[in-house]
Amino acid sequence: MSGSSNAHAVYSASGAHRWMNCPPSAQLEQQFPNETSTFAEEGTAAHDLAEHKLKKALKMRSRKPTSEYQSDEMDEMTDLYVEYCLGLIEKSKMSCSDLQILIEQKLDFSDYVPEGFGTGDLVVVGNGTLHVVDFKYGRGVIVSAEKNPQMMLYALGALSLFDMLYDIKNVSMAIVQPRADNFSTWEISVDELLEWAEEQLKPKALLASTGGGEFCAGDHCRFCRAKNQCRARAVKNLELLKFEFQDPSLLTEEEVAEIIGLADELSKWAGDVYTYATALAINEGRQWDGFKLVEGRTRRKYTDEVAVAEAAKVAGYTDIFKQSLITITEMEKLMGKKKFNDTVGSLVEKPKGKLTLVPETDKRQAVAPIHAEFQVEE
Ligand code: SF4
Repeated sequence: MSGSSNAHAVYSASGAHRWMNCPPSAQLEQQFPNETSTFAEEGTAAHDLAEHKLKKALKMRSRKPTSEYQSDEMDEMTDLYVEYCLGLIEKSKMSCSDLQILIEQKLDFSDYVPEGFGTGDLVVVGNGTLHVVDFKYGRGVIVSAEKNPQMMLYALGALSLFDMLYDIKNVSMAIVQPRADNFSTWEISVDELLEWAEEQLKPKALLASTGGGEFCAGDHCRFCRAKNQCRARAVKNLELLKFEFQDPSLLTEEEVAEIIGLADELSKWAGDVYTYATALAINEGRQWDGFKLVEGRTRRKYTDEVAVAEAAKVAGYTDIFKQSLITITEMEKLMGKKKFNDTVGSLVEKPKGKLTLVPETDKRQAVAPIHAEFQVEE
């Protein structure tokens, strides 16, 4: 999470998934500014609040942070994170009286990645196991702890702090992403972790540090700063257009299956390039052949509702107001969960969502098609 800006920018643990899959991306990204986003700022505010709450819960000194991003939802989600951490600590205490608990600990993994370090949200050591917990406030991308290079780097950093003091045999990693209802854990032995570090991490980090290796596009391009202009990503996505159609008039089922498999990545890439071209046109007056800037469609709106009501009344119109219920979320917050369920729970329904075709990897349960004769295979 933190570190000297340059080292962090090139070899951040959070970017490890990207530079391990595409080593030259680490150097290519240096041409682009590291722009922050409101999502990143909101994430930082949530981390600060989570850190404070966990410290208070463990009777450690901490001052409550303030941020314009704090909200009821952030309060609730950071409570869930703290609850998870306290549960883990309690469980670990049962088998170890000499527990080490570190919050927001700087972790140095420069033995494996040049100048590499990051910050572990929670590190717990005791009874042969090292626990590393990472809090994620985003909900757009569900992050798994399994074989997650960011977590493995944090674990290596924590191991180098404690392996002289403790006999650590296993590392348990957890990603707590409460807004996505994702609590993902994964365990690996220290021997396997060190083997991965020597055989996979070190060579990739060396390539990344020298700009070597092959460009390789994939889902790891999503947060790459070069993604809009990257040629390797464009080439990979344009492969779809080189499709060799066998039938001149209609696509076969196999061809449709292949196209929808590529369509998600293709549309993300095309969207990124479009956003990039639009930003240049708006901000720098760049002209793109065959395109022009126009104003989007908008809806009319009152400039002053009080003045409108007054003018309508003066003109003799009185039936100008309508009353509506507060939203379900507002009602639940007003009453509290239990009272809400007792009072109006039976009057609330969750309509079925529109049927959507998604990749098999999606976490949602598969459902039957509309016509019963087309049952989904188990
Ligand atoms: S966009 Fe993708 S392929 Fe291009 S440099 Fe970044 S990670 Fe590599």
